[in-house]
Amino acid sequence: MNFQDKLLDLSYKNNPAMHSFISKLPATPVSIFSRMSQLAQSHDAVNLSQGFPDFAVDPQLIDLVTTYMQDGFNQYAPMPGVLALRERIAHKYQVLIRIDVNPETEITITAGGTQALFTAIGTLIHPGDEVIIFEPAYDSYKPSVEAFGGKVVPVQLFAPDFEIDWESVREKITSRTKLIIINNPNNPTGRILTRKDIIALEKLVGTYGLYVISDEVYEHITFDGRKHESILFSPVLRERGYVVTSFGKVLHATGWKIGYVVASMHLTEEFRKIHQFNVFSVNTPMQWAIADYLSDVDYYASLSTGFQEKRDYLSTALQQTQFKVLPCEGTYFMLLDYTEISAQAELDFAIYLTEKAKVAMIPISSFYSETVNQNLLRICFAKEKSTLDRAMDYLLQI
Ligand code: PMP
Ligand code: GLN
Repeated sequence: MNFQDKLLDLSYKNNPAMHSFISKLPATPVSIFSRMSQLAQSHDAVNLSQGFPDFAVDPQLIDLVTTYMQDGFNQYAPMPGVLALRERIAHKYQVLIRIDVNPETEITITAGGTQALFTAIGTLIHPGDEVIIFEPAYDSYKPSVEAFGGKVVPVQLFAPDFEIDWESVREKITSRTKLIIINNPNNPTGRILTRKDIIALEKLVGTYGLYVISDEVYEHITFDGRKHESILFSPVLRERGYVVTSFGKVLHATGWKIGYVVASMHLTEEFRKIHQFNVFSVNTPMQWAIADYLSDVDYYASLSTGFQEKRDYLSTALQQTQFKVLPCEGTYFMLLDYTEISAQAELDFAIYLTEKAKVAMIPISSFYSETVNQNLLRICFAKEKSTLDRAMDYLLQI
């Protein structure tokens, strides 16, 4: 059975036991990240597909978690999260961007960014509501909206700039439009929105009474001195928005699945009503450990510095190949244009590269709801130099 058939086999359509079952998400396959990681593993390829660091979590943080576990911090945390951690987060916003966030009423600790997104979407979306998303879009947005009976209205953005034409966004707004979801810095494009974009968004949200979810999980990974524009800077968006973040990116620990949501008091109250019955509360010892670990706000700046070095190392090395590197302003992903190497469609080429060239990347077409082919693959550079070197050894042979 080839790779594509295996995917189909996994879907409910080919499973006779599921024929009488009315799926809420009938067209949803296993995520491209899991698929490519699995393919990389089975072909012993260097896995630069799914976004996760391959370097160790700081042993000091591991020690803190261990100590809290040994000291008996093992029972339910408060539903909104350990207050010490929420205070630490509020302090970060105060020191780094001079924004006051109330730790008791405006911050909720979640089981990672994905759960935060799902719960925020569930809080806002009623059947029939329309949600504007920008494609290429992170894979969880559409199914999360659809699980609550909402309808996704995509705005497609294209290489090389992936710029948003806000007038065309306005044209998509109808009486049913409820929410706009943005992701800044953006996975997979590596682009960041400007103050002008945030002002344009603010205008639409204010004029049409919409809500916004701002996926800011890569907020601390911006390059070349660029600043991340949180929606928290805008009083309008702050009142009508959920900011979603993830400690997975901040601590190089994607498997820990902890994040948080920032929102106004009223939106937080509504969020917690769903959160309470979705996860209730997030694991206790890690919350205490993270609160201690992040006591020095200078830590955040080290993320941009460290990942920028990796971006530069990989993009310089790639100059020896026929891949063309697109500009990368933030996140730990870059886009590679392979036009000079192959005429294959993105998924086919990604499978070919993994199986034959032994390097796995993500086809950008997977981030669009309609077939789009731009000869672009996403490569993850959150890796040890030795891993990037190993990948380069293979890529130089193409
Ligand atoms: N949003 C984006 C844009 C992401 O890239 C990710 C994961 N890398 C998430 C949300 C989910 O975060 P988490 O792993 O904490 O669920
Ligand atoms: N966010 C990760 C990425 O973009 C993947 C997370 C997942 O596998 N769900 O690669």
